[in-house]
Amino acid sequence: DNAIEIRGLRKVYGGQHGQPPKEALKGVDLDIPRGSVFGLLGPNGAGKSTLINILAGLVVKTEGSVRIWGFDQDVNPRQSRASIGVMPQELNLDPFFTPRGALEVQAGLYGVPKSQRRADEILRLVGLQDKAEAYARTLSGGMRRRLLLGKALVHQPHILVLDEPTAGVDIELRQMLWENVRMLNRQGMTIILTTHYLEEAEEMCDEIAIINQGTLVARDTTANLLGSID
Ligand code: ADP
Ligand code: ADP
Repeated sequence: DNAIEIRGLRKVYGGQHGQPPKEALKGVDLDIPRGSVFGLLGPNGAGKSTLINILAGLVVKTEGSVRIWGFDQDVNPRQSRASIGVMPQELNLDPFFTPRGALEVQAGLYGVPKSQRRADEILRLVGLQDKAEAYARTLSGGMRRRLLLGKALVHQPHILVLDEPTAGVDIELRQMLWENVRMLNRQGMTIILTTHYLEEAEEMCDEIAIINQGTLVARDTTANLLGSID
């Protein structure tokens, strides 16, 4: 069974207000198996963020179909959205929320019942237990990243998507993020991450798809794709 099934996915940005249209995805077909750690690789501007923002429901596709955990995004938008959690690339957080408050708001947005909220467990998991009551504007970039990971987990999604989780982070935080990801995957979560670090893909991913200029150019096991590069 697949966690994600994408068929003929196209995204064209712009084309209004006199802007030239930009075709960011040019008809992508992609299946991502349940239980895998799947890497989406490609240079800047390839369309990686567009693809995962469509999965997350943050960007509206132009054409094609997307199934998430068996739910068609157009037919069952609520169930598709509930199946996936996304750690975005931008460190945007409301500066006046604390980590605990931000997790509470997120849980509310996803309709997680009070009895099933696990703020303390999540804060511990991402190493923010000592910062639970600190305002987001006082958090370092690394701490914000941890909080964004925590927010992606509040509704216990089947699939976790991380957009460039370790771009520009120090070794310590990278190791922590990798450990978190491995542990979540061992517990059965399907993981999808974008990266432009080959090393990260090699270290973390079972399978990899390479995207370039809006087109999928390769898709194979990590061993087959990267094994021959060294
Ligand atoms: P849509 O086609 O969904 O209406 P737009 O093309 O109008 O989207 O752009 C949405 C937002 O993204 C705008 O605020 C725009 O300034 C911004 N934007 C435009 N070009 C880019 C780009 N190349 N990369 C990232 N953001 C962009
Ligand atoms: P990647 O994540 O691989 O760097 P993106 O999905 O961010 O790639 O971008 C793919 C292409 O779409 C790029 O050419 C980018 O400039 C363009 N793009 C991304 N977002 C927007 C937007 N909101 N409006 C217009 N163009 C965009």
